[in-house]
This record gives sequence, C-alpha cells and structure tokens, in this order.
Amino acid sequence: MARPLTEPVLIVASHNQGKVKEMRALFAPYHIDLKSAAALGLAEPEETGASFIENAELKARAASVASGLPALADDSGLCVDALNGAPGIYSARWAGVEKDFTKAQQKLEKKLAALPPAPHGAHTAHFICALTLAWPDSHCESFEGRVTGHLTWPPRGNKGFGYDPIFVPQGSDLTFAEIEPAQKHAQSHRADAFRQLVAACLANRQRDNLSYD
Ligand code: IMP
Repeated sequence: MARPLTEPVLIVASHNQGKVKEMRALFAPYHIDLKSAAALGLAEPEETGASFIENAELKARAASVASGLPALADDSGLCVDALNGAPGIYSARWAGVEKDFTKAQQKLEKKLAALPPAPHGAHTAHFICALTLAWPDSHCESFEGRVTGHLTWPPRGNKGFGYDPIFVPQGSDLTFAEIEPAQKHAQSHRADAFRQLVAACLANRQRDNLSYD
C-alpha cells in the first residue's frame, strides 16, 4: 500500500514558476501548502536518470532530504513511437539552452521524414508525466501518467507550450495548442499522474470542492 501524505506542507522540487503555480492549484483543495524549492534556496540536481520516473525521484528525494519536508517533483516529455520513444527524457534538451521549441519540432520533423511513411498516415506519439512524492527518509511514491495521440505538421495553435502545436490527442482533430487550457489540463498526462497520486496518497484527506486558478 502507498504511504499516505499526512503533512500540511509540501516542497515542489521545481524552479519553474509555471509548474509551481499549476501544482499549487492541484493541491490546494486538500489543504496542502506548496512551497517552491527556489524560494527555499535549494539547489537543482542534474537530471541524470535513464527514465522519467528516475529523474522525478532524484529531484524529489534531493529536495526532501535537503529540506526535511516531503517533496514533489515531476518529469515529462514527448515519446514518438517511430523514433523508439525519442525525444523522451531529452524533450526539453532538444530545444537547446535557448528553449526554442520551433527548432525542436523541426528536428523531429526531419528525423521522421528520413523514415518510411507512417502506416496510417500520421506518426503516433504520447506524452508521459512521472510524478514523485518523496519523504526525508528517502521513501518515494511514483506515478506515471500518459496521453496518446499523433503528430501533425505544420504546427497549429498558440495556446500551449513545448510540443503542444504538433500533438493531436486521440479522439480530437485539434492540437493541444488549439484547445482551451482547462480542456487540455483535464485530459493531459499530468492530470492522469495526479489522479493516480490522489487515489494512492491523498485518499484519506478532506477535500474542498472549491476551484482555484
Ligand atoms: P521537464 O520540465 O524536464 O519535465 O521537461 C519537459 C519537457 O517536455 C518540456 O520542456 C516540453 O518540451 C515537453 N513537455 C512536457 N509536457 C508537455 C506538454 O504538456 N505539452 C508540450 N510539451 C510538453
């Protein structure tokens, strides 16, 4: 059985303010106060893991051990089936230090153009999100969420980030960058991982039905 989270405070092991804001909104109904690793001056470890879960665990463990509080970390990316799962854990790195996702999408398009055409006209892909809760004794609980779909070119939409403009989730004709953010958040890999975390570690906590932005 998974370890329940009973503490009222959680460190988010991320220096990305967007991620901290999104996580704070997800945990607020459970009366859990999220503090960012950046605000506590905690260093960011290097992502040396060989999988999404390994990277999420090393980030969450480092923040928890350093702060003495439970910590949450995530690691996510896009996996293209015809490329054996690339860019995968290297999704952010494909955009370079300048975080240029137009360049990352072009790199993907070029690699796929060198392969035989996709059997059903479009290359299949999925986003993965690993979410880890870690405690100061190094115990971890990890969850992996996913959303499947296919890739499309040219990129479409301006509501998303990263690889959203080329990803069409299964059952939709629109890319993740064309649909409303709330609709994306309800069906995303992050939402899937968070639902699993709630069922395993937050089931015993009281939940408010308030909505938070
Ligand atoms: P992380 O911050 O190390 O987890 O890097 C995740 C990278 O994967 C991001 O920089 C994006 O390139 C990509 N990614 C993850 N989730 C999404 C998503 O929901 N939409 C688009 N790109 C994503």
